[in-house]
Amino acid sequence: QSKQKGLDTPHFFDPQMQASVRARVALEEDIRAGITMSEFVLYFQPQFNGQQLIGAEVLLRWRHGSGFVSPDKFITTAEQSNLILPLGNWVLSQACKQLAEWAKRPETAHLTLSVNVSPKQFKHDQFVDIVLQAITSSGAPANRLVIELTEGVLLENIENAIERMTQLRAYGVSFSLDDFGTGYSSLSYLQRLPLTEVKIDRSFLHDIDSNASGASIVRTIVSLGHSMGLKVVAEGIESQTQIDYLKTCDCFLWQGYFIGEPQPIESLEKLLVQTN
Ligand code: C2E
Ligand code: MG
Ligand code: MG
Ligand code: MG
Repeated sequence: QSKQKGLDTPHFFDPQMQASVRARVALEEDIRAGITMSEFVLYFQPQFNGQQLIGAEVLLRWRHGSGFVSPDKFITTAEQSNLILPLGNWVLSQACKQLAEWAKRPETAHLTLSVNVSPKQFKHDQFVDIVLQAITSSGAPANRLVIELTEGVLLENIENAIERMTQLRAYGVSFSLDDFGTGYSSLSYLQRLPLTEVKIDRSFLHDIDSNASGASIVRTIVSLGHSMGLKVVAEGIESQTQIDYLKTCDCFLWQGYFIGEPQPIESLEKLLVQTN
């Protein structure tokens, strides 16, 4: 009986919860200020096809206080507070400007950029228009833009997702399924989506080194993706062993700290000169 007592206590008197609400509101304010003060910057993690640099994933960084705050610390709050909308639009338009720059030079014209899009962005009524606006106002080649989505948002309303993706695909935009293998969706569902690519979640890559079943899971995911006609990117590559193994799986699309860390645009462009 006495154990039940706590249940009657109104939530707003819970000091711990109050503290976390305060912390979230403070973080929201900081993000808002960060947007106006241009504290957000884009990093670019190289993607390779074998030895060749083929593009990069765009990763948001926040230059705040004394150092960089990683997305894991602020994306969730940005998502909950809708601040992801202005932030996400900014990422998209910056990425498109970069693609437009690259398109002007033959040495860089082939490079692609993959942009992470959060569920709230994707579900927004204006999503298709926002992407098209970023493309047209920058003059970016649409067929160099890849949008990364996660499973949850695609399956929440699959008909709607198919429609949005199909509209953008008509302009040449492609779609990648991020963190592939961590969700619970059935393959028949995924097959309905107009995807061009899947990215094997890095937890599976990690397992290549640690156990035999991890290795066979990676092999299975790669062949599954290929049999669905998709490109398969391995992300989170941290060792030569993983690369050697991926080659035996016929997977040559690579991303990870071992071959290239997320970096400012200037160093990515230097890397391009070195690898060509
Ligand atoms: P993600 O899209 O799965 O991105 C890959 C994450 O793995 C990045 O973390 C990257 O730095 C990290 N990574 C890359 N190679 C390795 C490796 O070899 N080992 C390990 N352990 N990690 C590696 P990051 O940059 O901290 O981003 C975390 C997540 O935040 C991203 O996961 C993505 O979901 C989200 N995110 C990042 N930028 C944006 C953005 O502009 N918009 C939205 N909506 N989400 C973003
Ligand atoms: Mg991603
Ligand atoms: Mg991922
Ligand atoms: Mg992720």
